[in-house]
Amino acid sequence: MKDIRYLKGVGEKRAELFSKKGINTVEDLLYYFPRSHEDRSEMKEIADCAEGETVCISVTVFSPVRDVRVRKNMLISTMVVSDQTGALNVVWYNNRYVKGQFMTGDEYILYGKITKNRGKKEIINPVYEKKGNERFTGKIVPLYPLTEGLTQKILQSSMELAIKEAGRLEEYIPSDIRGKYNIAELNYAMKNVHFPEDFESYNIARERFVFEELLILQLALSGHREENTALSGAVFEDILCVRDFVKTLPFPLTNAQKRTLNEILSDCKSGKMMNRLVQGDVGSGKTAVAAAAIYTAVKNGHQAAMMAPTEILATQHKETLDEFFKGMGINVVLLTGSMKVREKRLAYDMISTGAADVVVGTHAIIQKEVEFHNLALVVADEQHRFGVEQRAKLAAKGANPHILIMSATPIPRTLALILYGDLDISVIDELPPGRKPVKTYAVGEKMRQRIFAFLEKHIRNGMQAYIVCPLIEETEKSDLQNAEMLSQKLQTIFPDFKIGLMHGKMRPKLKESIMDEFVSGDIKILVSTTVIEVGVNVPNANIMVIENAERFGLSQLHQLRGRVGRGNDQAYCILFAHGNNEVTKKRMETMCISNDGFYISEQDLMLRGPGDFFGTRQHGLPEMKIANLFEDRDILAVSQQAAKEILSEDPFLTSEKYKGLKKRADKVINAGIVMN
Ligand code: ADP
Ligand code: MG
Repeated sequence: MKDIRYLKGVGEKRAELFSKKGINTVEDLLYYFPRSHEDRSEMKEIADCAEGETVCISVTVFSPVRDVRVRKNMLISTMVVSDQTGALNVVWYNNRYVKGQFMTGDEYILYGKITKNRGKKEIINPVYEKKGNERFTGKIVPLYPLTEGLTQKILQSSMELAIKEAGRLEEYIPSDIRGKYNIAELNYAMKNVHFPEDFESYNIARERFVFEELLILQLALSGHREENTALSGAVFEDILCVRDFVKTLPFPLTNAQKRTLNEILSDCKSGKMMNRLVQGDVGSGKTAVAAAAIYTAVKNGHQAAMMAPTEILATQHKETLDEFFKGMGINVVLLTGSMKVREKRLAYDMISTGAADVVVGTHAIIQKEVEFHNLALVVADEQHRFGVEQRAKLAAKGANPHILIMSATPIPRTLALILYGDLDISVIDELPPGRKPVKTYAVGEKMRQRIFAFLEKHIRNGMQAYIVCPLIEETEKSDLQNAEMLSQKLQTIFPDFKIGLMHGKMRPKLKESIMDEFVSGDIKILVSTTVIEVGVNVPNANIMVIENAERFGLSQLHQLRGRVGRGNDQAYCILFAHGNNEVTKKRMETMCISNDGFYISEQDLMLRGPGDFFGTRQHGLPEMKIANLFEDRDILAVSQQAAKEILSEDPFLTSEKYKGLKKRADKVINAGIVMN
């Protein structure tokens, strides 16, 4: 459709403003949906207007506008209007344009708020339209999200024109699907989503676009997904051997761990390739479950690999597995990017000959130098994006392993379905017994002295603390300085304690040695950026202080908090939050009242929307134009059903029937907003 510049009343300058909102064509404009509507459809009589009400009235001008300048920068314009029930003052503040607009006897429709001034009713800064020419009064009027320079009026009238100019739109959701799911036709929906006759029509129209948006998203995602269900995976003949491993654990598995382990092992026995996501809150014991699966793979004569996002975590996993597998004759090999060439070569050899039963490492383990002997299981810890690409790399090496993805980011069901619709999901929804919830407090700057005193007391009692500074996005440098400055400041405040500093720009070896010092207890306070976020386990550290907590996503805060409370002592989390806005307050409150990752992430989704849900790091979904993933979960389910049906009929959307949907799905993919 045509460029927005050529729409009447737009031109070059406004076109630029529109383009800031991603609106470049008339079609883009049509899909710029209102954020709400104002009901100006009901007309009132002056006598019925109550103070505080926003009303639409039909009036005759009684005496035209008079200007009074009260102060240098305050112009008040007033006029008197009437209808058959009474008279009313109309007041505009600082509006130079109204004078001379109105003639006695002219009939107008006004829309505005009623107030009272010295006992007399007034209507303030009303929208006005000449009777007979009503466009935005006397009906339900759309309100759009604005940017600077674009007013409601501009958007409303541009939209009205756009709908006229666009003419009849070509429907792209086939009629059988619309019929089956009760979805409104495009032209009807387009008109009514912007300029509805009544709110019922609006709801019907909105539903269509929510359905459409979610359907197209699913179709786009499916294009990136492979059909794994049909792929075959190694068969683990003997899965009962896992009992021998479980017996050696120093604790009984929780029921949720058992259930998850069962689900994993029955996948591995089935002959089909496993593709499973295990979601479990921090501390729910995912590693033990993974270890049990790895044990079973090895006892069935296969190799297994475990991937972690950072070297620190990989190293820790290696130690944990060594401990779990002590005396079982299972050989665990570490492979990370920062290892010396000689060490790496040795590791490669052991992996390719099969001398290594288990490989633990970072992404280094799927690099091309690595050849596996007979890899049958890959556990990806905290790698939500472990997907098609990595799997293709493995497949290129002739390995087609079962995949187990472990995530401590509790994703609300709705999002999980969208992001991981092709994965089976197990949820470990139970913490090992005896865990004390972390006591959490949100505080302001004025509490800083008290918090430092609190820290000092607890450190003297032998505890350790983390202090986390946020990533400041603009420059990585300021981000680094932030943590660095704070650690210097703390060193002067606590001259007796060793303060450590860790950030993402450090070389892995240095990070590791600092982490070692923290684990050994030499470092009392570890100041860091979010690099410690995932997985790290230091039982003696039980205070977590988070600076600028308002900058973090709730799930991320929950993750960070999960670093403490791993020992037997009561743990604390202190959130320094700045700013007074309601959303921040609610979010901090959520952290203080709940230790349940699923609840927290759902609140986050509700309070901030999916765009912010993962922070910027893991943001994998496009911004929704109209759907609300939280409120529209029913439509989400329906659209999923529809997507499935469409794909089973035409997996690559090559038929004429789905041409329009394919075009739109491709657009989502090409914009690079769908993750894989
Ligand atoms: P996460 O799910 O966050 O990865 P971990 O696997 O690191 O959690 O487990 C956290 C701690 O809980 C570890 O010290 C682990 O040994 C312990 N743990 C795991 N399962 C149980 C259990 N069933 N009972 C008691 N402790 C457990
Ligand atoms: Mg873990």
